[in-house]
Amino acid sequence: MSVTGLPPYDDSNVFARILRGEIPATKVHEDDHALAFRDINPQTPVHVLVIPKGRYVSLADFSASASEAEIAGFWRAVGKVAKDLGLEGAGYRVLTNMGEDGGQEVPHFHVHIFGGRRIGRMVP
Ligand code: C5P
Repeated sequence: MSVTGLPPYDDSNVFARILRGEIPATKVHEDDHALAFRDINPQTPVHVLVIPKGRYVSLADFSASASEAEIAGFWRAVGKVAKDLGLEGAGYRVLTNMGEDGGQEVPHFHVHIFGGRRIGRMVP
């Protein structure tokens, strides 16, 4: 466990490999702080993942350890991607799965952007 009590970052995770260019991804945005690409198993007509470039396991890790610039840059990228994909008018959903109970599969912090159809209200 790291100093924050979270599991250590695993550099072999699939999103780390996408960041290093070892695995292909359909990129829709890239800047200093964030990379956005299409989910390979889309759940809605538009389903994009946005990941920070830094090595953060989850939202808990990112929110505790990332710099102000990384946090601001990441969330600005999320909004920009949704806007650039034409989702702003009709709306969309942003979701992150955190840890085991949250159903997180890939241990590199990411948010999902879902849109392109009416999703409606969703609670577990
Ligand atoms: O549950 P979690 O939020 O960790 O989901 C990880 C997501 O990453 C899944 O929606 C999966 O389809 C996606 N993925 C991907 N490209 C990969 C591996 C996983 O888009 N190479």
